[in-house]
This record gives sequence, C-alpha cells and structure tokens, in this order.
Amino acid sequence: MALDKFGRNIHYLRISLTDRCNLRCVYCMPEDITFRPRMELMQNDELARLVRLFADLGFDKIRLTGGEPTIRENIVSIVGMIASTPGVKSLSMTTNGVLLPQLAQPLKEAGLQRVNISIDTLDEKEFRKITRWGKLEQVWQGILESERVGLTPVKLNAVIARGFNESAIAPLARLTYEHNWQIRFIEMMPFGEVADFQQSQIIRAKEMRDVIRAEVGKLSPVTDVARASGVNTMQVAPADEKHVPLLDGEARLYQLQGAKGTLGFISSVTEPFCAHCTRARLTADGRLRLCLLREKEVDLLTPLRQGATQNELQDLILQGIWHKPWGHGLAHNVIPMNRVMSEIGG
Ligand code: SAM
Ligand code: SF4
Repeated sequence: MALDKFGRNIHYLRISLTDRCNLRCVYCMPEDITFRPRMELMQNDELARLVRLFADLGFDKIRLTGGEPTIRENIVSIVGMIASTPGVKSLSMTTNGVLLPQLAQPLKEAGLQRVNISIDTLDEKEFRKITRWGKLEQVWQGILESERVGLTPVKLNAVIARGFNESAIAPLARLTYEHNWQIRFIEMMPFGEVADFQQSQIIRAKEMRDVIRAEVGKLSPVTDVARASGVNTMQVAPADEKHVPLLDGEARLYQLQGAKGTLGFISSVTEPFCAHCTRARLTADGRLRLCLLREKEVDLLTPLRQGATQNELQDLILQGIWHKPWGHGLAHNVIPMNRVMSEIGG
C-alpha cells in the first residue's frame, strides 16, 4: 500500500502515454507547442515494468491519458498489457474521442473498461475554434461507438472557457434528458504558458450551475449511490447547496428533473477535493507527478534506464508518495509552471 504522510491511501495512477495530440485545444496547449523527442518518453517495455511496480504497490486503478492516448503507437496492445497486469482492477481512458469510431471495439476487446470523452460544445464551428482544427462529428461518432461496444458508463468532459463556449453549457446539460451519460463540467485550471488565458477566461462551477438552473431546469444534488454510476462515490459539502451531492471521483453530481443521465462539476479551482485525493500521475517521460497542480515530481525513467533494481524503484515511488503535497496552492497564486496540461494528462 502507498500511503502519504497525511494518511491518504494512494492507489489510483493516471498514466500519460504521450505528450502529443491530434488537436490543439486553446485551454490546454499553445498552438506552436514543441513535443518531446520520442526517445525521452517511456518505451513499451519500460511502461510495462513501471505498471507492474505500481500494481505491486497496491495501485489497482489506472487511467490512460495524454496528450491524446489513442495516437500512441500500438495503443491496443498497450491496453492489453496493462489490463492483464496482476493487481489492476480498473482500467479507463480519457480521450478526445477522434479515433474512437475505429478504436472503441478493439480497445474494449483488449480490456479497456470505460472512457471519458472530451467534448466542449455541440456546435461545429465553436468546436473547431476551441480545438483549433477538430471535427465535432468524429467525436460524436466516437461517443456513440463507445456506448455501443460497452465502454460504459459514458462520461463526457467539457471545459468551459469564457468567450469560447459558455453558450454550450445548457445544450450539453440537456443531453442528459436523452442519454444515460454523465456530463462533467470542468473549471479551467492554470498551467505554464497558458496560465494567463486560463485565469482570465475561467467560468466557475457555481456559475455553470446557475446557467443550467436558469436556462434548462431545476438541478438537484445526486445523493443516491445507485444513481451515481461512478466507482469512488462519497459525500462532501459544496459551498452553495443545502443538500450534499455525491462525489464521483472529482465530480460533484447533480441531476435535472426527469433526466436519464447526471451532471458532474469538477471544481478543482474553487472547491478543491484534495482531502479525498487518492491519485498520482506518471508523465509520458516517466516522472511520478504527485499533484496535478504542483511542480513536484520524481524521475523514475532515468534510474530505470540506469539499471535500478525493483526495490530501488519501489522505494523511490513510496518516498515520493509519502511526500505528496497536501493540495494545490491556487488560492495563494501558486501556479505550476513546469508543464502544460497536455504533458500531464489531467
Ligand atoms: N486528449 C485527451 C482529452 O482531451 O480528453 C486526454 C488529455 S486532456 C489533457 C485530459 C482532460 O483535461 C480533458 O478533459 C481536457 O478537456 C482537460 N483539460 C485540458 N486542459 C485543461 C485545463 N487547463 N483545465 C482543466 N481541464 C483541462
Ligand atoms: Fe489534446 Fe486533450 Fe489537450 Fe485537447 S485537451 S489539446 S485533445 S490533450
């Protein structure tokens, strides 16, 4: 078991498989971003070794992310390798969905259990503006195909940026009347050279909930675990509600009256859930990142390449986890500058 010094059992690993992406979302990376040379990234055998080490330490839940994980070469066999690693019980992926029309079925067959798909608007033009060149229809087909093959429950991620897609909040929320999906609205977080944009254009979760109440209908907190359809549900009080919504991972859950699906609000900036954090991250270049919004990392790939033993690598992981920061420092204007979001993976 990997415990931190605050007593949190850290057993959820998010692995970034690549820093590259087939889109360039405005809130995630600069358009002219330079990617790392491939040799600096974990190779398949290195990844397999690190996954085994983490699983041996009790990491039973893994999410694959990027950059865009589906563009990693041999993604289907990588998923198969991780799914068959002893100790891994839950395997999911966060993806922009562009390649899911072709990949959903083989990924499911390889052992992937669920996907979170990013879709920030239902308007084709707005989608292109946010992603700089993406085609909405590909993502929509990816969502339908994922549902068809059973990569469920389907969860959709929407980052809302002022001046780009605030008008998408209501139409995205309305999807839950028709579909048993979880639509997750994410507050923009500040990173590296995109931080100024992120801080000036952020729309807070409370404002998003107010828009939904005004434009769509009554919004009630989900308090029934059976409705939540998530794995790690628990209850934590938010700032603006009398009733306490369940927390599904990092999302506080709400529901529109009569809707099939649920709405999740990921308010890492205004209502952090650090006390309940169980996660660590492995960057594509093999660094153990202890908090999404803190720069602190432990290099695992260099010692692995220099011949470190199993025990030495596990000690590095356990020491790193022990010193996991309590939480982020956004309230004190401490912004992680060493990476942009696409290099960490969310
Ligand atoms: N490419 C995949 C995707 O877009 O889903 C996986 C990587 S992406 C970095 C993971 C998630 O982070 C996506 O849902 C994306 O919308 C979100 N994201 C990116 N930049 C963000 C930011 N600055 N603040 C909050 N969420 C962000
Ligand atoms: Fe790519 Fe995902 Fe970042 Fe968009 S959010 S640029 S799809 S990594």
